[in-house]
Amino acid sequence: MMRLPDFRYYAPQTLQEAANILADQGPTASLIAGGTDLLPKMKRRQQEPETLIALNNIRQLKEIGNGPGLRLGAGVTLSDIVADQRLEEDHRALWQAASQVATPQLRNTATLGGNLCVDTRCTYHDQSFEWRKAIDFCIKQDGETCWAAPTSDRCWAVSSTDSAPALIALGAEVRLVAASGERTVPLEALYRDDGALYLTRQPEEILAEVILPSNAKWRSTYWKLRRRGACDFPILSVAAALRSDAGGTVREARLVLGAISSSPVLCNDVAALLIGNRLSDDLIEEAARLAGASARPKENTDAPAYWRRRMAVPMVTWALKELRGDDMCDERRRLAGQAASMSHEPQSSQTTNEENPK
Ligand SMILES: Cc1cc2nc3c(=O)[nH]c(=O)nc-3n(C[C@H](O)[C@H](O)[C@H](O)COP(=O)(O)OP(=O)(O)OC[C@H]3O[C@@H](n4cnc5c(N)ncnc54)[C@H](O)[C@@H]3O)c2cc1C
Ligand code: SF4
Repeated sequence: MMRLPDFRYYAPQTLQEAANILADQGPTASLIAGGTDLLPKMKRRQQEPETLIALNNIRQLKEIGNGPGLRLGAGVTLSDIVADQRLEEDHRALWQAASQVATPQLRNTATLGGNLCVDTRCTYHDQSFEWRKAIDFCIKQDGETCWAAPTSDRCWAVSSTDSAPALIALGAEVRLVAASGERTVPLEALYRDDGALYLTRQPEEILAEVILPSNAKWRSTYWKLRRRGACDFPILSVAAALRSDAGGTVREARLVLGAISSSPVLCNDVAALLIGNRLSDDLIEEAARLAGASARPKENTDAPAYWRRRMAVPMVTWALKELRGDDMCDERRRLAGQAASMSHEPQSSQTTNEENPK
């Protein structure tokens, strides 16, 4: 059995109190929300904070507030998001993304803030301490070589958050609070394309809330590729959002690829191609090809890179067709069973994704 290392534990009641403790303790402290990612990593000694500052007693972080759009506290659980009808109807990509994170039990504990800050993943790093020691560790922690790309001097661990691509497509901002002040930035600015230093968040900052614009008349969607439909991290995801006029011409658009790089990839070239045009089959095909060219995954998750790269084109096609109003239920069902066709397992052993949101 893997045991947690020793740590000091604080359970502040207010955001200000938490920010003060974080400033006081310095970078050896870590915030803990649901703990669904952090605690397994501490058991594997991938993270060894001396102090944990729990956020789950801070009521302010658990609020969903109305405004011009919506303000979601970082402590809102993913189950709270799935249960919220406003999100299901008006911010569908986020609702679909949250619905597909892990399992219901994990979503009851896992928070939005934790999901946005969740650690990057890599086959060579998500292992026990002894396993990592046997390969002399790697650049992400304690080592000098990247085993996924040995000639590279950076870490390519994969951004594996489901909610970030969806929220970036929806134009969300995040408010970061520290003892010394606060700032609000577009969500995409929170991420850095570096698997080891994947957040631009400063060590003393707490992600306090996510601010969603009103997005009246926008439609959005989230598509997730994963090995097991019942519970798995994304190995490729597509989030798309757009606003069309009454004649069907696209006026604004955002398309984001997740889980193929160390940060979510905002495809501005695809958006530029869509804007000013109607979503014809030809346009969708061209947009999907363009987006597919941005997908350059490395061989460091549990599925082959060539397959993840190849799946980008059909997944973008399906996402855009769904936003056009096509019925894509069959494609969603087929995607939930993709793992079997990839690994040539017999049909009877396929996992189906009963919760796969339409
Ligand atoms: C079996 C399993 C399956 C999973 N499947 C998925 C999946 O499909 N998709 C997916 O996205 N994730 C998945 N996860 C990872 C994880 O459960 C989720 O990402 C979850 O949302 C993390 O939230 P949390 O509140 O538990 O974060 P925690 O574990 O508490 O924290 C995660 C990280 O975020 C930091 N953090 C937390 N809150 C804040 C804040 N407010 N401000 C700044 N930093 C903060 C912590 O310091 C830590 O570094 C899975 C985990 C498991 C164990
Ligand atoms: S991508 Fe390379 S450096 Fe990063 S965790 Fe994997 S092996 Fe380590």
